[in-house]
Amino acid sequence: MTETDIEHSNVTGIFADNDLSGNVEKMYENMEIQPEVFTYGNRILKELETRFREIDEIAEYNQLKVIKAMQECRVGEACLLGTTGYGYDDMGRDTLEAVYAKVFHTEDALVRPQITCGTHALALALMSNLRPGDELLSPVGKPYDTLEEVIGIRPSQGSLAEYGITYRQVDLLADGSFDYEGIGNAINDRTKLVTIQRSKGYQTRPTFSVEQIGALIAFIKKRKPEVICMVDNCYGEFVETREPSDVGADMVVGSLIKNPGGGLAPIGGYIAGKKSCVEHAAYRLTSPGLGKEVGASLGILKDFYQGLFLAPTVTASALKGAVFAANLYERLGFDVIPGGSESRHDIIQAITFHNPESVIAFCQGIQAAAPVDSHVAPQAADMPGYDSQVIMAAGAFVSGSSIELSADAPIRPPYAVYFQGGLTWQHAKFGILKTLQFLVNKGLVNKKEFKCSNL
Ligand SMILES: *Cc1c(COP(=O)(O)O)cnc(C)c1O
Repeated sequence: MTETDIEHSNVTGIFADNDLSGNVEKMYENMEIQPEVFTYGNRILKELETRFREIDEIAEYNQLKVIKAMQECRVGEACLLGTTGYGYDDMGRDTLEAVYAKVFHTEDALVRPQITCGTHALALALMSNLRPGDELLSPVGKPYDTLEEVIGIRPSQGSLAEYGITYRQVDLLADGSFDYEGIGNAINDRTKLVTIQRSKGYQTRPTFSVEQIGALIAFIKKRKPEVICMVDNCYGEFVETREPSDVGADMVVGSLIKNPGGGLAPIGGYIAGKKSCVEHAAYRLTSPGLGKEVGASLGILKDFYQGLFLAPTVTASALKGAVFAANLYERLGFDVIPGGSESRHDIIQAITFHNPESVIAFCQGIQAAAPVDSHVAPQAADMPGYDSQVIMAAGAFVSGSSIELSADAPIRPPYAVYFQGGLTWQHAKFGILKTLQFLVNKGLVNKKEFKCSNL
């Protein structure tokens, strides 16, 4: 081909008569995003080029990390097949667990479809590593809502409290930092396990960086070296180049329908860590005497492997969405956590609206952008494990998957919405523009704000 041929081929096809951006804008208009909303979004995006490049660089590092682990574990085509029945000698399952251990730089890992969700993975890690008379310590304030019932902070059937395991909590200081003095005083003879939640969850505190978690663990280990430090890693995987297990955590725990499942895992959870910790969990998940030896993988392994392979770039897409949403709404005067220019340690973006109507409009916008169930409008409802009504927006391929574009909010002051996910950046962008469009349509945001928002 000559140079003119190449030039010519660039202007054929769907963009033959219009310039590219004009077509994209039209497409958004077709999908009921007004030009003012589209243009405002793109103005915000112009300022985010450096941030997006940084996110891509982290994804590049983590992509290589995952490939390296798969290669070193000699993942072969036979690993993608599953077993049935007892699942003895399930090579694909055992190899996948070795891959997870390599990715997280831990001695061992338990990665199973029989772990039903993140809460189950955390409950399993806690219940298997604690014994009656032991004490659990959270040095980072109140844990995730569903963990309250696991621990027995809210009385609950089968909780740790029912088994005589006590719980102590040290709240963060007013500025969101660790209360080292309080933590030092809380550690006692019975302190067996410390649980550190990386992500903010449904709270408006900062998410901790891997570095901060490392400093906290170092402090705790200095006081009591034998204490088990567990990190609830939900939503944090692949956001940085290091994981909490790289800075001293004895166990990292998470859900496969969040970051590490890459959107493909249809169920599952993982526990990666010290051999003894993982073994305890395995004997609890299956049975004493059986441990990791049983547990058929059925037909699920290909999705687990491929999901892990995609996880670094999927996480990057979700992160771009979070950064975009933060900047878009910050400019309109809303409180956002983290702030638009703050560094990121998880994929969750909180936006505080101070009224339930905006929270509901935001969630309905996310739903309207979905590939699945875009025609339904989410409503607030009671949910098991949560103590206030919750609204959840998700049009997901995997039900409830929050690595897919989704938003949820407990209906309680300060009426903050928690937004996360996006298997592709393009979908995340569309979803965020939809939320703004819904707020505009309902009169909750005035388009005039776009002009005077000091851009
Ligand atoms: C999602 C989440 C959990 C619980 O996971 P589920 O899969 O919803 O049970 C626990 N901790 C944190 C920080 C989470 O984000």
